[in-house]
Amino acid sequence: MEEEILQKYIQAGKIAKEAVKESKKIIKPGITLLEIADKIEALIREMGGQPAFPLNLSLNDLAAHYTPTAKDQTIFTDKDILKVDCGVHINGYIADTAYTVSFNPDHTGLIKASEEALDAALDLVRPGAHIRKISAAIEDVIKSHELNPIENLTGHGLEKYIQHTEPAIPNIRIEGNAKLEEDQVIAIEPFATSGRGLIKESSAQIMIFVLENVRPVRSQAARNVLNYIVENFATLPFAQRWIENGLKLSEFQTRLALKELRDNGIIGEYPALKEISSGLVSQHEHTIIVKDDPIITTR
Ligand code: MN
Ligand code: MN
Repeated sequence: MEEEILQKYIQAGKIAKEAVKESKKIIKPGITLLEIADKIEALIREMGGQPAFPLNLSLNDLAAHYTPTAKDQTIFTDKDILKVDCGVHINGYIADTAYTVSFNPDHTGLIKASEEALDAALDLVRPGAHIRKISAAIEDVIKSHELNPIENLTGHGLEKYIQHTEPAIPNIRIEGNAKLEEDQVIAIEPFATSGRGLIKESSAQIMIFVLENVRPVRSQAARNVLNYIVENFATLPFAQRWIENGLKLSEFQTRLALKELRDNGIIGEYPALKEISSGLVSQHEHTIIVKDDPIITTR
């Protein structure tokens, strides 16, 4: 890996680390998810990074892909368990990291399960390591807590401006001989749940979108939104909230424009992901550059 690129990955990781640290200071029962997202995303920009995706703040049985809308009033309470998933990029070089927070002692074991699974997985990362061994370690640690890993969410590779690419790093045992390679950039993200261990898309909650194909679009309103997306987010996921705030549009106007872009195949959606049996979910994640002495950019 070129030194200049390596430094960008490391810098993105450093900013993500600081953002996580600050989030741990401000997240207390009674805070709104919107306040958390606004503060942390602003901090990322102040530090010279860009959010690689909207700050994901997924409560309880939501595993991922919830981010507040511009007028969201959802409050984090002392009963909740909250996944904070933070992405930062510098010129497209991404750091992706997540942790889980709760003030309810009932959730301590659940939080520990994904945290210890991530630690066990990180210990195995090196060039030539079998991915199936990492996946088995994740599954074993989570099951040792009498909880289930989420089967249909995986870790992933990262590339310039690409949030999810090969290799997939499953959270359950797999077959095959795929191995990690030197200088791959990967995110490992175990999810643990008290439920069955499967998520489904929650079509009623879609706050995150991504540009897929730039094509002509009929209405001026949708054209303005498309131009804003192309200029500001390129191929990285963006929040409905960012459009509302950036273009000073109402939620209604924004959703109408996004619907037109979606119906024309221009943008795709990331619906919130809900555990199918309404089990509570925890998640921990780090980004690693695979080397004999691996660089965990977000730790
Ligand atoms: Mn993530
Ligand atoms: Mn990830």
